[in-house]
Amino acid sequence: MPESEKNSEFTWGHARRFNAYPDYFRKLFGARVQKVSIDAGFTCPNRDGTKGAGGCTYCNNDAFNPSYCIPEKSVSRQIEEGIAFHKKRYRKAGSYLAYFQAYSNTYAPVEILKSLYEEALRYPGIIGLIIGTRPDCIDDDKLALLKDISQHYYLSVEYGIESCYDKTLKRINRGHSFEDAVNTVTATAKLGLKTGAHFIFGLPGETRDEMLAEAEIISGLQLVTVKFHQLQIIKDTAMETEYRDNPTDFHLFTWEDYLDFIIKFLERLNPAIVVERFTGEAPPRFLTERVWGKKRTDQIVSLIEKRLEELDSWQGKYY
Ligand code: SF4
Repeated sequence: MPESEKNSEFTWGHARRFNAYPDYFRKLFGARVQKVSIDAGFTCPNRDGTKGAGGCTYCNNDAFNPSYCIPEKSVSRQIEEGIAFHKKRYRKAGSYLAYFQAYSNTYAPVEILKSLYEEALRYPGIIGLIIGTRPDCIDDDKLALLKDISQHYYLSVEYGIESCYDKTLKRINRGHSFEDAVNTVTATAKLGLKTGAHFIFGLPGETRDEMLAEAEIISGLQLVTVKFHQLQIIKDTAMETEYRDNPTDFHLFTWEDYLDFIIKFLERLNPAIVVERFTGEAPPRFLTERVWGKKRTDQIVSLIEKRLEELDSWQGKYY
């Protein structure tokens, strides 16, 4: 009998072959919970000159924001429209998390952050916050505010880390080091706050082995959730020019190659870490080319699970 079939459940408490985000949420809340994205009008220190200018070389934030997120609209209005949008697609969702997604959502004085977060939490049906930000965009006062909110609501801080290698972070103009990210994640987790992180595979100059080795490094971070994306070349970014000039410096995955890579990566990843995404999907109008054809996120997850099944493998098999 294959080893995995000896128990109908893995260490994460269900039979899926990876520690999946929707199941983590269901276990936590006992029901489906949907995220509602918000663009609260923050900017980014890597764009306004505080940390750097021009931003990360791959960044065109518009490509990652849902259409109902327009900073001119109040937080409450965006939540209202976001909930209406989701109700059409997922009738079952009754509770929502406000996802402060665009740019760096801790990049403002504490009083402003407090008022924006509280506005979201006052909206009926909102049971918590997910706050996306940079590892260098948080301090003790902001962490104290988040800690305070987390005593009464679900709260997760999601850091864009992108790569474990400083040579890459430098090259993509992130404006922070990997050590900055480690220190921030550690300080956040030390307060008992839930931590999430985002990583990109295929950044220029990284070899496949280096990317695979990140599984071990990420496994050692105090993270509750992770999101992974394959690199996509987004129109009107500095990276688009770089890619055009030096395509051989990039490891842009084909779907078959990525499937093989992500399985190997998953086998090496700490099984305690919840995986929220394996891929990202910028709308086609932002992409220079559509490398994978039309594949929906749910199809991609099914294909990954199917391959794990075929190989009788699972997250953390070789961790
Ligand atoms: S930190 Fe985020 S918002 Fe700022 S430039 Fe980089 S990707 Fe864009």
